[in-house]
Amino acid sequence: MSGAVQDRLQQFTCRLLGRRGAEVDWPDQADQGLALLPTGIAEVLHCLEILPLASDAASPLPINLSSDFLDRVEPLVATEPAAVSLQIPTAFLKQSDMAEPVARAFSWLNARVRVQSAEPTRTEYHTWFFLATLDSADRWQQVVRVTVNASSGARVPLPDTLTEDAPQAEPADLPGDAPSTLLAAARAMLIQVQADSRPFVDRLEGRLGRDRKRLQDYYRALLRGDSKRAARHPAVEDAAKRDAKAKAVQLELRRKLAELDERYACRVDLTPLATIRLDCPVLAVRCHVQRRAAAKPHTLFWNPIAKQLEPMACSRCGVSTFAVAFADDSVAALCAACQG
Ligand SMILES: [Zn+2]
Repeated sequence: MSGAVQDRLQQFTCRLLGRRGAEVDWPDQADQGLALLPTGIAEVLHCLEILPLASDAASPLPINLSSDFLDRVEPLVATEPAAVSLQIPTAFLKQSDMAEPVARAFSWLNARVRVQSAEPTRTEYHTWFFLATLDSADRWQQVVRVTVNASSGARVPLPDTLTEDAPQAEPADLPGDAPSTLLAAARAMLIQVQADSRPFVDRLEGRLGRDRKRLQDYYRALLRGDSKRAARHPAVEDAAKRDAKAKAVQLELRRKLAELDERYACRVDLTPLATIRLDCPVLAVRCHVQRRAAAKPHTLFWNPIAKQLEPMACSRCGVSTFAVAFADDSVAALCAACQG
């Protein structure tokens, strides 16, 4: 498991047990820590009230993703709200003309885009936390965070609003009619998971390649052995029998290879864990898009937390991009791949 994941698990454990009334001492760089648990919490976790905190398999609560750690702490997490609503009351918004920043940030692939106006407004950002699991001959798991602008559906690189270095966000009572961003978030999440799990998938493919080669070498050696024996003792087996045996060996090889492919097939599972709704001031940049005879207004967003323009979301595949084409009649935004 990577150091980054281990660090996050350490922080998570400290915060979770602290919130449940435990005395926790686990300094950042230390391999081990110690917690004094209230009796009820110790019972839920099936451990003693004095609990050494460590990631290794021999500790009473092995804090890693390969153990039953997440299952054991789940009852403590389940009582926490899975959705949080926050608000940033005010933020500095750009005052200057947006035509030049827009021209610098975006490449318009097939349309004329004119900035018409820019005005302060508010929009919601939805941060989704997913547990991503890749199951194959081995297992890869990671908690992934994705933030989506609920108005545009684009993925936005915002800092984690629950950590200290994010701008001041207050708990808020937001209305219940925000557009759903689950699909947009899941699409962005899949792209993220593909990138993050690349080393794991490369390792699996390497192992699959080696296992396939081993099988093929083994069965080839079997066939070679048979044909050598036949050359030495031509009378022992007639040609038809030898052919039938060779066919059976080939079939068996194909069956074994198919089994191997099945064993190494990758199943992806995304489980939403929690969401944060953040209501935030934002600069809406209104644009006029002319695509051949058709025209349509589009809104771009300048984000005061990231202090930059946000990408647009492709209307077909959902990818967030600064290189945007527009469809012929609907003038809907498209990424370069979907345009092609
Ligand atoms: Zn696309």
